[in-house]
Amino acid sequence: MKRILQDLNFAETETLVLGLGEKKFRAKQLFDGLTQGRKISAITSLPAEFRDRLLQDYEDEPVKIREIFHSSDGTEKYLFELSDGNLVEGVLMKYKYGCTQCVSTQVGCRMGCKFCASTLGGLVRNLTAGEILAQILVVNALHADDPELKGRGKEARAVTNVVLMGSGEPLDNYAETVRFLKNVTAAEGLNISARNISLSTCGLVPKMYELANEGIPVNLTVSLHATSDEDRARVMPVAKAYRISEILKACAYYFQKTGRRYYFEYTLIEGENCDEEHARALVALLKGRPCHVNLIRLNEVKERTLKATGDKEAYRFLGLLEKGGLSATLRRQIGSDVGGACGQLRAGYLEKGRAAAEAGKPETEQGSADGK
Ligand code: SAH
Repeated sequence: MKRILQDLNFAETETLVLGLGEKKFRAKQLFDGLTQGRKISAITSLPAEFRDRLLQDYEDEPVKIREIFHSSDGTEKYLFELSDGNLVEGVLMKYKYGCTQCVSTQVGCRMGCKFCASTLGGLVRNLTAGEILAQILVVNALHADDPELKGRGKEARAVTNVVLMGSGEPLDNYAETVRFLKNVTAAEGLNISARNISLSTCGLVPKMYELANEGIPVNLTVSLHATSDEDRARVMPVAKAYRISEILKACAYYFQKTGRRYYFEYTLIEGENCDEEHARALVALLKGRPCHVNLIRLNEVKERTLKATGDKEAYRFLGLLEKGGLSATLRRQIGSDVGGACGQLRAGYLEKGRAAAEAGKPETEQGSADGK
C-alpha cells in the first residue's frame, strides 16, 4: 500500500518537499491543494514531474466516495472506499449553523457492543489520521460549489463540525485519532475548532486520561447505556474492564483539565435500561456533574435481538431525567430513511455484494436506499 500524504501536518509536508529537492513554496501549494480536497494529480500549480514523483509513493485518492444516499431531511450518508478496497461510512447532517460530519476511525470494531452493527465482523484495521481527515476533505470538495452549503463556516467550507461517531472506537486507535485531531484543528489546515469536534468513546479509561492531557479540548462523549456495571456488561463487554465509577472519575479529570463539560450517550433499549428505576439511578449517578445526557433511540440491528423503545416511553424517560435535575435531550432521528443503524450501510452493501457474487453476477453499483 502506498503512503498517505494527508497523514502529514504542514511542517512534515515541508520537510518532505524540501527532501525531494523542491522549493519551499511548493509545500504550501501541495498542502493547500490537499486541504481543498484535491487529488495530487489535480494540483496543477505543481510541476507535472513533481506530481508524478509524489504519485510513485503516495495515494492519489486515499478516500473515495463510493456512493451517496440522500435522506428526505437533507442528511447525506456516504459509503467511503479506502485505497485497499475497505469500506467505511460517514454522514453529513445539515443545520442552520453549518454542517456536522460523522467520520469513522476504524474498519469494523473490536469492542463487541451488542446493539451495534459496526462490531459484527470484528476489527478489520485502524484508519490512519489521513484517512480520517480525507473523509472530510472529499465531502468539502463534493460541496465546494453548493451555493447553499458553501459560505457557511470558515473558508466557505461545508463541514464546520465533526463527530467521531462512525464505525470504530476512536480511543482504540489512539495515536492516529490524536494525530487527526491535531491536523484537523491546525490553523494551516481545515482549522476546525476543538469546540466543534466531539469524540465518542465506549469508555477506555486510561486513554480518556491521556486525551485530557493532549491539550486538544474536544467534546468528550461517553457511551454509557446502563446505570450499573452488571447491566452495562450485558450490552457492552468493555464494562468488564472498566467500571462506571472509574469512567466518572476520568470524566471529572477531563473537565478539570479542559474546562469542557462532558456528555453521555444513553441508547434506550426496551426492557433493558429505560424503566423508572433506571431513570432514578441515572439521576443519582450524574446529578450535580457538569454533564449532559443524549438519549438515543435504538436503531434495531437485524442480527441482534434488542428492541427500540416507543416514542412515548422515550419522552417519559427524558421527563424523569429533567425532573431529577439533569440536562438531557432526546436525539432527533436524522436520516433514518437512508441509514438504519450505524454500520448498517456497509453491512448491507457487503451482504449485497456477497449475494450477487453467489448468484454469479457482478457486484451492483446501485445501493439499496434503506441500507439494510
Ligand atoms: N465507539 C464509539 C463510537 C460509536 S458510535 C462509542 O462507543 O462511543 C456513536 C454512538 O452510537 C455510541 O454511543 C453507540 O453506542 C451508539 N450506537 C451504536 N449502535 C447503535 C444502534 N444500533 N442504535 C443506537 N445507537 C447506537
